[in-house]
Amino acid sequence: MKKLILIMVIAWCLPGGVDAFILKGETHQGPLRISSHYRDLSPGNVIAIMVESPVPSKAWAQFGDKRYHFVSRAGGRSWFTLIDLGLAISPGPHVLRVGVACPDGYEKTFSVTLTVTQRPFPVKQLTVDDRFTVLSPDVLKRVLREKKEIEAVYLAITPSWLGEGGFDVPSRGVLRDNFGEKRLFNGEVRSRHRGVDIGSPQGTEVRASNAGRVVLTGNFYFGGNTVIIDHGAGLFSNYCHLSAILVGKGSLVEKGAVIGLTGSTGRATGPHLHWGFRLYNEPVDPLSVMHLPFEE
Ligand SMILES: [Zn+2]
Repeated sequence: MKKLILIMVIAWCLPGGVDAFILKGETHQGPLRISSHYRDLSPGNVIAIMVESPVPSKAWAQFGDKRYHFVSRAGGRSWFTLIDLGLAISPGPHVLRVGVACPDGYEKTFSVTLTVTQRPFPVKQLTVDDRFTVLSPDVLKRVLREKKEIEAVYLAITPSWLGEGGFDVPSRGVLRDNFGEKRLFNGEVRSRHRGVDIGSPQGTEVRASNAGRVVLTGNFYFGGNTVIIDHGAGLFSNYCHLSAILVGKGSLVEKGAVIGLTGSTGRATGPHLHWGFRLYNEPVDPLSVMHLPFEE
């Protein structure tokens, strides 16, 4: 009996959630099953959509004005795509379309209505050096140049998956659940917090949260010393305010590889790691990414 209760508890807690959607079809090669997985449907979350047997010849998803590619993992046995619920998405119904074509000629477009829920984001007051709130023309020029450089990286989508299993927290320390926080710097400039912060002493090792390719390293005005890793499928992780960068642009890193050391470079109030993600150029919550069902 105890065993049965335990199994029931595990089943209830299994990834996917009780309201995750499943789509079904019947092809000449056998049944088609499309499953989904997400933490919840509030702003900042990621939806994983998996096409299970038969292997499709083509699959796509459309959500809002974005079209998403499917990529394969597990040796081609599983096809998936990741959809971003952006910080600006409005609560209420939104239509998601998923199209699949199979080698036997089967083709179908499924429509699912997702109800985006409200998510309250706290407001935080922060005090930083005035140079981060009152930008001189030269600094403004630098900030705009860096924004363009960083966005170009996030828009170059790799149509394959480079990750190995699920994502890990990249550094030891106190992880704050502060994605999306509305920030007032010196009581004036508003911005949204596009990641989570891990409080750790200066010089703590920062590790790649998953395998991928280092697509950008450098010193940026707000992010300080930064590393960006491309994991494929439009998903990138970023690590900011580092005191040292220990990887080179273009290198492939394994999950857990040391890529830098924590610090307080850029707009930081003290040593910590800022850990963020972009999916199709939209900031998404690292704690939602941690929920992706990629354990081997
Ligand atoms: Zn941060």
